[in-house]
Amino acid sequence: AGPSVPVHQPASSKLPCKPAVFIPVDRSPEIQEARLKLPILAEEQVIMEAINENPIVIICGETGSGKTTQVPQFLYEAGYASSDGTIGITEPRRVAAVSMSQRVAKEMNLSNRVVSYQIRYEGNVTDETQIKFMTDGVLLKEIQKDFLLSKYKVVIIDEAHERSMYTDILIGLLSRIVPLREKKGLPLKLIIMSATLRVEDFTNNKKLFSVTPPVIQVDARQFPVTVHFNKKTPLDDYSGECFRKVCKIHRMLPSGGILVFLTGQAEVHSLCRRLRKAFPFQKTNTAGGDDDKEESVEEMRKFKKSRRQKKVMALPKIDLDNYSVVPVDEGDEDRDAETDDDMAGSDIDLDLGDGDSEEDEKSDSSLPLYVLPLYSLLAPEKQAKVFRLPPPGTRLCVVATNVAETSLTIPGIKYVVDCGKVKKRFYDKITGVSSFRITWISQASANQRAGRAGRTEPGHCYRLYSSAVFMDFEKFSAPEITKRPVEDLILQMKALNIEKVINFPFPTPPPTEALAAAEELLIALGALKEPPMTGRLKQQLAAKLSCPISPLGRIMATFPVAPRYAKMLALSRQHDCLPYTITIVSAMTVRELFEELDRPAVSEEEAAELKGKKARFLQMQRIWAGQGPMQKLGDLMVMLGAVGACEYAGCTRKFCEGNGLRYKAMLEIRRLRGQLTTAVNSVCTDAGLFVDPKMKPPTEAQATYLRQIVLAGLGDHVARRIQAEELLDDKWKNAYKTALLEDPVFIHPSSVLFKQLPEFVVYQEIVETTKLYMKGVSAVEPEWIPALLPPYCHFGKPLENPPPSYCPETGRVRCHRPSVFHRVSWQLPAVEV
Ligand code: ADP
Ligand code: MG
Repeated sequence: AGPSVPVHQPASSKLPCKPAVFIPVDRSPEIQEARLKLPILAEEQVIMEAINENPIVIICGETGSGKTTQVPQFLYEAGYASSDGTIGITEPRRVAAVSMSQRVAKEMNLSNRVVSYQIRYEGNVTDETQIKFMTDGVLLKEIQKDFLLSKYKVVIIDEAHERSMYTDILIGLLSRIVPLREKKGLPLKLIIMSATLRVEDFTNNKKLFSVTPPVIQVDARQFPVTVHFNKKTPLDDYSGECFRKVCKIHRMLPSGGILVFLTGQAEVHSLCRRLRKAFPFQKTNTAGGDDDKEESVEEMRKFKKSRRQKKVMALPKIDLDNYSVVPVDEGDEDRDAETDDDMAGSDIDLDLGDGDSEEDEKSDSSLPLYVLPLYSLLAPEKQAKVFRLPPPGTRLCVVATNVAETSLTIPGIKYVVDCGKVKKRFYDKITGVSSFRITWISQASANQRAGRAGRTEPGHCYRLYSSAVFMDFEKFSAPEITKRPVEDLILQMKALNIEKVINFPFPTPPPTEALAAAEELLIALGALKEPPMTGRLKQQLAAKLSCPISPLGRIMATFPVAPRYAKMLALSRQHDCLPYTITIVSAMTVRELFEELDRPAVSEEEAAELKGKKARFLQMQRIWAGQGPMQKLGDLMVMLGAVGACEYAGCTRKFCEGNGLRYKAMLEIRRLRGQLTTAVNSVCTDAGLFVDPKMKPPTEAQATYLRQIVLAGLGDHVARRIQAEELLDDKWKNAYKTALLEDPVFIHPSSVLFKQLPEFVVYQEIVETTKLYMKGVSAVEPEWIPALLPPYCHFGKPLENPPPSYCPETGRVRCHRPSVFHRVSWQLPAVEV
């Protein structure tokens, strides 16, 4: 399809107007040679001319044409970076920010003190930094501190076609910041880069840019790719199908790298293992246990660094009785515990159904296969391997998640195997309940993936689905902002004093219901000032959509966590609860703390092993849950106990694996605790918070306060057990009524409160399997509710016929809040929080 937007024509009548400055870069001959092959090099002059003459420029170019690595260098050479102005580049994916900063530093022969990166948890930015790669979320936070982004001379928004939520918002904000900077006489250049030419949402949007920015198209040399569809309707076991396809390609087809697209880290590792077994490669190229040991030591060092040395208090003694550690059996399996996915932070383990027998896995080919995994949270040094030449006499095979679709271009790929799926986070429109699901990709993605095979010579793409299925794919995937709850975003915007969010120049606006739901939640959390409920309904609604931020909201907005969790942090100053809240919030943010022990076993051996592990985990769970008032904190107390015990044992892989904890999750929690501690200390400068990875168990009183804190944050997640006299039919037996759903929900069998069935609980999330289950459950006392959550309570009778509202996607009915609370006898309590 031809370009649908006017493509920029260089002003040929004018002389090329390079700025007077030209900063020389000392590149090695090999790098220089490789650069010259990139299509974007031919366009340098056109691009720089457009940038010099326009405040905003859009650059479109096929993946691999050199946008990310070269445009920052063009700007640097043209003198756009200096001691008082940085070139900033945002990426929606962490992996791209890290990897691209390293690549550009290397190409320019500069140290990473000058070409640096910053992602949510880490970075290497210094005073000397002149080119800074970062995730889009990081730049958004910086706008909060300095709306004009005065330390930047250029901001490049990369991968704009991905339409990630923060990228969209940044473009909206920058559309206002650029003219403001112009007025101040300190012009800022904005460059939007996209892998596709589908940029109408940015160009045909008068609300966004009053003058349509020029679009420069970089023509990439793309070799023809022959696409092969599977004849059969796709199988569930696409991972097994990938395995078979790679084996076939490797045995029968001429040399050339293979790139496999799968959906998540767990799948990637599983396929890598199978392939390595089938085509052994002598020199070990697997991740050894030692790497992780180093990681752990490094984490500990970082964590300790984040302490505030000046305000060190005496270290509390560890109460061995409460975190008693039962001896661990040896278990020396080389298993990678996985936590992440690419954009988000979680992973669902698929039942891969590795159906092939051992014979199948043995290969007759003598040529070894050099198998490398690639996914977002892979350590940078391991990521970098995919860019190097494979060892002589081997064939490269990269097993990747979606990161290889447009963020990273792997050289030498001739064969692409595309499972056609992607893992995405889905949200229930009404409840905001989120889950990761594996779905079909869009046609645009499928074509991007196929294109990876034709970078250097004609290639082949094997699609593990039929052409009929492909025709049913949606053309493009919808922008993220239209698909998810936006409370975190709205809080960030309100913190920027954007009150009438509805008037914001979104490239694509979120649905009004999503905006309204977000404001409602933020009002309930006390982050926004509630408008007076006077006047006509219409005026009231309008007022509701433009509430200003409250002082509490401002504090909440500084914490790098979702508003519900930010509220918990903001309330935790009292009774020394902060370290515990920080730990609980970290543990709740990092999903999948515990190993999945109910998974189907492949062999009898494994079944026995899983059974043993499960028994041990249940034993540990009881210990971690504590007793008396501790126990009422329920699953959150288990999380706290697990982290406490794990840190007490030095956070080793061995401890984690022996006790059903996911090692990577525990490292991530440690990292987050350090980061949140720093964040809290910078807000409450007098808190002088000192957190050691090791911590003492909370006292009984603290455990009770913690339940109140959790209730205050998860106020819309209260559920009440249905009493015997209310039982209308059996499906409500042992069920709970939530504030948000008409259907019965249940405490998840894995919860420590599963048998106790407290009358009132709060839950972290609802997941739907055979039933609706609450996970992350704590018991709360009914008398706390009106004191801590006045917006959620009313003292009248429930409405006779509340107007129902439906979620069109799940067909679920939303109910009205009073139905949860109307049975409570409202004695106002003495709550001390
Ligand atoms: P785009 O942003 O247009 O997709 P990039 O600038 O990311 O393109 O990539 C340009 C070229 O640089 C590609 O051929 C890619 O393989 C190469 N490249 C990128 N990162 C590295 C790296 N770390 N090592 C070697 N080559 C790399
Ligand atoms: Mg790029």
